[in-house]
Amino acid sequence: MRWSERQRAMLRVMGIRLFGPQAAVPVAPVATRDVPAAPPRVAAPTATQAAPAGQAAPSASQHGLRFAAPPLASAARTAVDVQAIAELDWSGLREAVASCRACALCESRQQTVFGIGHPRAHWMIVGEAPGEQEDRQGEPFVGPAGQLLDNMLQAIGLTRAEGPPERQVYIANTLKCRPPKNRNPEPAETATCAPFLERQIALVQPRIILAMGRFAAQALLASSEPLGKLRGRVHAWRGMPVVVTYHPAYLLRTPGDKARAWEDLCLAATLVEPG
Ligand code: URA
Repeated sequence: MRWSERQRAMLRVMGIRLFGPQAAVPVAPVATRDVPAAPPRVAAPTATQAAPAGQAAPSASQHGLRFAAPPLASAARTAVDVQAIAELDWSGLREAVASCRACALCESRQQTVFGIGHPRAHWMIVGEAPGEQEDRQGEPFVGPAGQLLDNMLQAIGLTRAEGPPERQVYIANTLKCRPPKNRNPEPAETATCAPFLERQIALVQPRIILAMGRFAAQALLASSEPLGKLRGRVHAWRGMPVVVTYHPAYLLRTPGDKARAWEDLCLAATLVEPG
């Protein structure tokens, strides 16, 4: 693959050096083995099953979802209603996430971090969990890792800024609340939060899902394999292609692996039909 001067400039921004006269970055072979997605706990409705035009969108409360904070600060949790979440439209889903009290993370969060981007983006980026700045600002990937993510996206012609669905990505996290002191997500938290991410994916219907980091990859693929084994091949989540790559925070600590992340982006790009 040959890079234009613009792409080279982008790669420099990502901190990736191109070597040799071809200046090519090898693309990992695409394995055909799909990792079967976890069996759906509920049928995944398509985006077209959202409320018909002119009809009021179903809200979380209309679906019997009771996430509102109880009167006492340390009151009991409210379990998520998986079936009801799977039928929510965007506004109902946003409301359900904002008022979720299904796990202990609701006690320490400043706010939930829902996700941002084009509602029918071709590319969906799935990260791990909000950090300190995301918890404060309510938007995913706004800290240093987010800056690298933006540069990585820019390098392949994508953006979080407003644009057409082939350019503007959708970004969501596996967990919608920040774990205290940015500790790793616990399996129970990931499982509890999963219906929200699943519904986001079902609404967006992306052409490619880019899972960033071990926790996002393992959660989406219901796998316990290490990230190094999951990247470099194509998986599937309910029929949608999934490519796994390093988390930008890891890449900030380990810049030597940026070239591998670039390979992953190139692999993902080969799976997205233009237009
Ligand atoms: N890391 C993530 O995985 N997500 C964020 O939103 C921020 C940092």
